[in-house]
Amino acid sequence: MDKKKLRNDLFLIIPLLLAAVVALIILLTRKTNQPLVAKVYVSDAIVETIDLSDKTERDYTIKGKNGELVIHVHDGKIKVSKSNCPHQDCVNQGEVSDINHPIICAYNEVYIVINGQANHDAEI
Ligand SMILES: [Zn+2]
Repeated sequence: MDKKKLRNDLFLIIPLLLAAVVALIILLTRKTNQPLVAKVYVSDAIVETIDLSDKTERDYTIKGKNGELVIHVHDGKIKVSKSNCPHQDCVNQGEVSDINHPIICAYNEVYIVINGQANHDAEI
């Protein structure tokens, strides 16, 4: 009788343990693969919110303070592909995909910042 009871308990415990492990893995991977959103500011006002978890390749035209910028989004990364600014720093910055590296175009007062759930931890 005891042996049978033990086996029944194991049948109950093993799936529970497996479920716990799976839940833990999902939680851990979700923390690192959190859905990212890029927010585009012009003179401190949000003009565009871009969902970076959407991997579709697309362009956004942003009206900056002194001209237009073209923002290119693909595969969870964002970059300024075209800008009328004299130094082209924003274009030269290239692709950005993490929350610690905002793209700034001072000339156009454009600021692109990537937000995730861990945003508050990453803020300086
Ligand atoms: Zn620029």
